[in-house]
Order: sequence, then structure tokens, then C-alpha cells
Amino acid sequence: MSQVKQILDRVAEGFELSQAEATVLYGAKGADLKAICEVADGLRHKVNGDRVGFVVNRNINFTNICYMGCTFCGFAKRREDEGAEWLTLDTIVERTREAASRGATEVCIQGGIHPKMPGTYYRDIVRAIKAELPAMDIHAFSPFEIWYGAAKRKMSYADFIQDLKECGLGSIPGTAAEILDTEVRKLLTKDKLSTEKWVEIIRAAHGQGVPTTATIMYGHVDGPPHWAAHMALLRDIQKETGGFTELVPLSFVHYDSPLYTANPGKVRPGPTVEEVEAMHAVSRIFLHGQIDNIQTSWTKLGPERAQGMLSKGVNDFGGTLMNESISRAAGSAHGQEVTAYEMVRIIRAAGRVPYQRNTRYEVIEEFASHDPARQAPLVERDAGPLDFMAELPAFLKEAV
Ligand code: SF4
Repeated sequence: MSQVKQILDRVAEGFELSQAEATVLYGAKGADLKAICEVADGLRHKVNGDRVGFVVNRNINFTNICYMGCTFCGFAKRREDEGAEWLTLDTIVERTREAASRGATEVCIQGGIHPKMPGTYYRDIVRAIKAELPAMDIHAFSPFEIWYGAAKRKMSYADFIQDLKECGLGSIPGTAAEILDTEVRKLLTKDKLSTEKWVEIIRAAHGQGVPTTATIMYGHVDGPPHWAAHMALLRDIQKETGGFTELVPLSFVHYDSPLYTANPGKVRPGPTVEEVEAMHAVSRIFLHGQIDNIQTSWTKLGPERAQGMLSKGVNDFGGTLMNESISRAAGSAHGQEVTAYEMVRIIRAAGRVPYQRNTRYEVIEEFASHDPARQAPLVERDAGPLDFMAELPAFLKEAV
């Protein structure tokens, strides 16, 4: 009997995967990987049924000016660079208003570490939005930004987050995790935000009652042992705090990433097809009983490949985004917008029941029926000036 089969048998008996077992599963291929995906799909069904969620949101990257020098980042610019920007509060509020008028319930706000930005700018953003749009969920500021803002204001992480929460912050993206391993982080971020600090900030957020997502960015200088250790750390935190809402695997986009271009032959051009499948499926199994939601990132994979992950343990399609500049800055062809209408079609085409949710995974609307009339509000809602996808992708036209 193969080692993978033995491990899956233990999973079927209800045992939790160990880090060593996860390392084996993450490296699986062929028939072994297929068996892993089937187990992950079964667990997904047990926990989430046939429903697949998505959130209508807008990404607002309020500044791309950043001097941190993360080697994988194709997004950051210096102040004098063409295209460098730092949005005013009025512009941020205007973009949020525009999003709200198109049905968004959430704005996801992240930016670079701008050296001239006061530490109070984070609270100013939240207050300005809440003053105009009190119902909007604000999902904002990566642990890197929390680290920076707290240092600038000479506050503890807990106090800084508590202040943001009182201003109206709802949740924090668990980005900037990359791979939670010191040696890998030295290569990626020069270890400026260490694993220990990332964990400390996440724990502080959860301690203040502010939920976060969890992420992993994989497919560069990393491999199965790093992924298993990363997930073990996330699972330990979750057992202690219960504050993660979901895991979002983010595949490395290499095209315009300095990490890739400056190290020919040493850095992988993103994960392989099998690694993408293994990441979603094994993570579902490893986190079973702790983190219920595994989200696929269409900005990294593209809608078609992301749809394929729905049979590999995934139960969430993430946000519509309206426009997302980070993946595109790294050369991804994706990352502008998949409208709510298209989300419904993509999810249905996979044989699942789509539902629109808010940031806290509360149901806003379920689209169980194929009655076209039930899609009318979405069509109308999405027919805005930003609706650049006039044509559905061919694979959807065939499938729906
Ligand atoms: S990943 Fe974030 S912190 Fe790092 S250089 Fe890019 S914008 Fe700056």
C-alpha cells in the first residue's frame, strides 16, 4: 500500500494530519494526487455542502509607493517613478461610493509602506469611509502595514488594531505571510516582517476580536516541507484563537517579479499544475475541523483554473474585486474583475450552488434557481462603467 494511501486511510478514520504526513501529501502526483483531491472534495462537501460563496467587493490599493524591496513584488514604485500614486481620502471614499453603487458590501484596502505616510493615515481611511458609508465592510491593512502603522504611532499591535476597530475596521487580510519560514523570508522580504512578527500581529488582531484571512504564496523557492510547516503554524494559531475566516492559497506570479528575473534558473516560475491542486486539496484536509473555508484566487489562476479548484476542496471563489493592481503589476493577465453575474455562472457551471456572502460568510443571497429572472438584479447591478468584460469567456458560454 502506498504511503499516501496509508495517510488517507488515517484521515478517513478521523485522525488529524501531522506535519510530516502533510509534507508527503503536498508532494504527491498522478493517481496519489487524484485520491487526495477526492478526499478533500469529500471533506469540503461534509463541511460546506454544495454551496460556493463569493463576495462583491472592490480592491483599493491606496498607494503603490514602497521602499521595502520585497524581491517578489512587481507592484511597488519609488516616489519619482511614473505611475507612482498615493490616493487622497476623498478619492478612496469616492471609489468606495462607486463600489457601493454597484452592490459591493466590502472594500479591501491595502497599500505599500509609504515612507512619508503618517501612522494615522490608516485610521483616517477607515473613519472617512465609515462617515460616508457606515454599512460598508472594511477589510484592510496587511500585517506589514499594521507593523508599520503601529511603529509610527509608537503603539502596541493590540492597541493599534483596537483603535482601527473602534474607527470601523472589520477584518484584516492575512497577506504578507508569503511562506512563514525564516530562510525563505530572507530571500523574499529580507525578513523585514519576520515570521514571529506576522504571527504576533495576527494573534493580536484575533485577540481584539478582529478576524483575518490566512494566506500562503507558493511556487518560487519553496516546497512541500515549507508548505506543511506553514499550515501547521496556521492550524496552531487557529486552535488557540479561532480568528481565521479562510485560507487563500496565492500562487506566485513570476512574469514581472524581480525575484524571478534577477535569479535566472534559481526561482521557479510559479507552481506546477499538480502543485496548485495539491495546495488546495491537502490544505483542505490539513485544516479540516479548524478552518472551514478554502478560497481559490481567480486573480492568480484565472477564472477557468480557479473553477477547477472547486472539485479539489475549495468552497469559495473570493471577491469580484472590480480592479486589482497587485497581481497585474506582477504580470498576471487576470486581476481586473469577475462580475457577480459571472461568478454565478462560473460556480453553476461547476455544478455548485452560488451564494453571495459578506466578509463574515453570512449569506446575502443564494442563487439556487436557474431562473434567469433571479439573475436580473445582478445584471443590472453589474452594468456599470467599470464592467469591461463585455464578452463571457468561451468556456463559460459552452458550460452554462
Ligand atoms: S510586497 Fe508590499 S511591502 Fe513588499 S515591496 Fe511590495 S508593496 Fe512593499
